Amino acid sequence: MKHLDGNVLAGPAADLFAFEATTALGRCGACGDVAALAQARVYGPPMGYVARCRSCDGVLLVIVEHEGRATLTMRGLRWVRVDA
Ligand SMILES: [Zn+2]
Repeated sequence: MKHLDGNVLAGPAADLFAFEATTALGRCGACGDVAALAQARVYGPPMGYVARCRSCDGVLLVIVEHEGRATLTMRGLRWVRVDA
């Protein structure tokens, strides 16, 4: 199967990353709980933000802000669902 380069993701990715984060649904990778990200337990700043699962306290996502840049990891989320 012929592949495309990553530039083809510009449109869909722009739509996806422009979502309202607090209303997006996420599934915890540890326990499977599905909830709006607004229901997560969040710790921080000043070092950044750590969002933990409301059910099992597993880490859902981490945002680190440093020197004018932000790094996002979402390793603890199995998926995120946003309204199209
Ligand atoms: Zn969980």
